Amino acid sequence: MAALLALSALAFAQGPFTHDIRPGYGVTSIGWLSDYLPALRGSPGDTRVYFLESGAPGGTAVVLGGTHPNEIAGIMAAVILVEKATVQAGRLIVIPHANNAAFGYPDPRCPSCGPWVTFHFDGATRSFRYGLVSPTRHSRPRIQQCTSIRLASSSQERRCGT
Ligand SMILES: [Zn+2]
Repeated sequence: MAALLALSALAFAQGPFTHDIRPGYGVTSIGWLSDYLPALRGSPGDTRVYFLESGAPGGTAVVLGGTHPNEIAGIMAAVILVEKATVQAGRLIVIPHANNAAFGYPDPRCPSCGPWVTFHFDGATRSFRYGLVSPTRHSRPRIQQCTSIRLASSSQERRCGT
């Protein structure tokens, strides 16, 4: 039994972090980011994708929250869409925890902030994971990107950033 629990804990630690999201009536299907990039399946980077289809013709809007897991406002905006929105035309796709691997890491710049943010509203208490901006463990090395800009004087300037 202990071995089974240890195995379960290990699988949880390596798989995607799941969050307390309660899909509303507007959600017509739920997928995974790994449906589009199979290499993510079962990894901490996989995350839920929520579809809100109107059934009427129209455009598609995509909302990503949690690109930086320490920016709780964007995450909450995406969660509210999943839980409360209905779409009148076209479709809405919402990924509330787009950078899911980063939610497993505390933010060292704010030791008193995490790892949970708790809200009390409508008579309920809800807790949402608070994470690090950009973890190093699941990130590839930064690639220096350079652009060449031709100036009016016909000399070329090279700008690089990471
Ligand atoms: Zn940000």
